[in-house]
Amino acid sequence: VTFDLAVVGGGVAGWTAARRAQGLGLDVVVLEKSASPPGWGNGRLSAGMFHAAYLSPTRRPDEIYRAIMAKTDGHSREDVAQAWAQNCGRAFDFLQAEGGEFGRWGPEEYMSSVLLPFKPIELGQPWKGGGPDRLLTNMWRRFVDAGGTFRPEQPALELCLNAGAVVGVLTKRPGRGRELVSARAVLLADGGFQGNAEMVSRYITPAYKLRGADTDTGDGIRMGLAVGARVINMPWFYGHCLVKDALVNDRLWPQPSPQHVIEASVLVDSTGRRITDEGLGNQRNADAIAKSTTPGGCWVVFDDDVWRSVGKDGEIPLNPTILNEGGTVLTGSNVRELSQMAGLPAAALEETIATYNQHCRHGVSITPKRTGRALPIDRQPLYAIPLIAGITFTMGGLLINGNAEVVDQHDRPIPGLYAAGGTMGGLQGGPRSGYSGGWSEAATFGMLAAESVATRSRSPSRGV
Ligand SMILES: Cc1cc2nc3c(=O)[nH]c(=O)nc-3n(C[C@H](O)[C@H](O)[C@H](O)COP(=O)(O)OP(=O)(O)OC[C@H]3O[C@@H](n4cnc5c(N)ncnc54)[C@H](O)[C@@H]3O)c2cc1C
Repeated sequence: VTFDLAVVGGGVAGWTAARRAQGLGLDVVVLEKSASPPGWGNGRLSAGMFHAAYLSPTRRPDEIYRAIMAKTDGHSREDVAQAWAQNCGRAFDFLQAEGGEFGRWGPEEYMSSVLLPFKPIELGQPWKGGGPDRLLTNMWRRFVDAGGTFRPEQPALELCLNAGAVVGVLTKRPGRGRELVSARAVLLADGGFQGNAEMVSRYITPAYKLRGADTDTGDGIRMGLAVGARVINMPWFYGHCLVKDALVNDRLWPQPSPQHVIEASVLVDSTGRRITDEGLGNQRNADAIAKSTTPGGCWVVFDDDVWRSVGKDGEIPLNPTILNEGGTVLTGSNVRELSQMAGLPAAALEETIATYNQHCRHGVSITPKRTGRALPIDRQPLYAIPLIAGITFTMGGLLINGNAEVVDQHDRPIPGLYAAGGTMGGLQGGPRSGYSGGWSEAATFGMLAAESVATRSRSPSRGV
């Protein structure tokens, strides 16, 4: 059997592509690494907010295009950004036609289209039965009912080439050897490399907490590179700050977030010096921790006023959740005592806090610059909580063009090879980690990949 399209990965991009391709009359196989349908990726764990660079997907394409170009400081490739902006509204409609129900979750625009039922706000990873889980399961069922071939527990291992064109993918069946799945086109939709500590260490940071599914291990990027593709925007990720105890206690991620407290106080590395402008938000603070000289040794330091006020902010507040969960909260009557407990250099931390307090009280300028709500650190006891960067997904990947085709070193499409979602690169990233929305990226390029394959397979010049 030679399939029209082999989809690698049963996630948001994979199921969107598979269902769209099926609707266009293509014979499709979906290879999925995990055992149970529809797959085990970030899509099922997600909150399911469908937005386009924080705008509603129903906004005009030119507004959406400008938003991603601004957020990525131009690191979005123009053709990729244009294709996404022009088509993410259509991808949103497609998901609704596939049974996705969306509702408003909050006043902000990026919360205007969230998959129902909303993911409950509680400790741990309450994903089962939530809107994203339901929609992806629904798409898998429709695919199989319509005659599609779904192969769970069959990871894609390697791409197969013939005369420079991708003609299939090697997989491994449980209990059997390697097997070639022949296909006229292959879509790599295996969700990025955040689950691969070696790759994350090479491109981003040696110390982090995976804030997503462990199956997305950069297999597609590795396979693409092996056939001449190139990568782009690899140092950037979408993520949040987490308390370091999340490394050993799964109830401490994705909530509670230490972010409110960080934004009101100081974030230091193991030299006792501030590493960023804490007022720039969760994503930027997580990036600063990951790229600090001691990504496994960063702390937030604050006082009792902050703990009793800002510490109570958020749906699952840091105070008292972290204490109830047995997490680390150091308390000391002065900076010296706190430094000793945290193993931080006392003189440096004292200086950091003294200059920071000068800034809070008298507006003295400090480095790094400080914006946002900075509250002085003086009311005893003082507190320190160890932090770690939580990486939800990586933004870089195989460079594609506006048709979701993977391109080579000379920007020429590699015949038969496509990428979408976390595996692709060219839309998200930049020094401020410009974020498009994971669902809008994955669904849009999954859909575009299916349409490109259908168009090419109908073209007489291709002889297919
Ligand atoms: C906690 C959390 C909250 C989030 N909230 C939001 C949100 O509200 N809005 C938003 O836009 N985005 C959100 N995201 C991000 C979003 O979920 C992802 O960007 C999106 O799922 C990416 O889709 P994907 O198809 O590329 O990858 P995934 O959905 O991760 O799917 C990849 C699939 O590929 C499979 N796979 C991996 N390797 C192989 C292989 N070698 N062979 C075969 N199969 C393989 C995996 O098992 C998996 O099933 C969130 C993510 C998390 C973790």
